[in-house]
Amino acid sequence: MIKLCRAYRTTSTVALQVLSKSPPIELLVEERAKLYHANRPDGLSVGELKSSLREELMEKWQRKWNAETQKGQWTKRLIKNIEPWVKRKHGDLTYRMTQALTGHGCFGSFLKRIGKESVDNCHYCSGTDTPDHTMFHCVRFDMERRTCCLETGCNITPDNIVPCMLENQQQWNRIARFLEKVMLQKEADERTRQTNSQ
Ligand SMILES: [Zn+2]
Repeated sequence: MIKLCRAYRTTSTVALQVLSKSPPIELLVEERAKLYHANRPDGLSVGELKSSLREELMEKWQRKWNAETQKGQWTKRLIKNIEPWVKRKHGDLTYRMTQALTGHGCFGSFLKRIGKESVDNCHYCSGTDTPDHTMFHCVRFDMERRTCCLETGCNITPDNIVPCMLENQQQWNRIARFLEKVMLQKEADERTRQTNSQ
């Protein structure tokens, strides 16, 4: 299981673009072309032109993200607004944070979808093992969740977890610690289950 989790590279391009702060290539091409062909209107400096083109790109990117109904839906649920995510000055993603933010990783819902597990029920409680369940509801992680809520002063939900991370580096680190702990524990428990079943 842990090997599988490490190997999966199934995350959708649209989600990866947002997570890695890389605008879609077609929007970048359009931006370059406009910059190249621009007749700069009265007194607009190159810098001003560039920043207005970047604003335009961000708006288009956000509209594309809003209109996406197939791919990257969990990531979209968490990162609604691209701009504050992309423009943040702090916060690196770890491998396990990315798993939590994409849902592609140690989650029954994902493993079942790709045919690696036959059921998607949670191994700790009666829920379905989705990223939403793991991060926000599963009783197994009540303590970790409570610690995170106390530390951040934020009662974390899918709506506010990313805005909370974006507040500052400290808040980012607190959420990061929570996600790392939860994902690490899932991996460790999965390993134990595998060993026991052999
Ligand atoms: Zn559970």
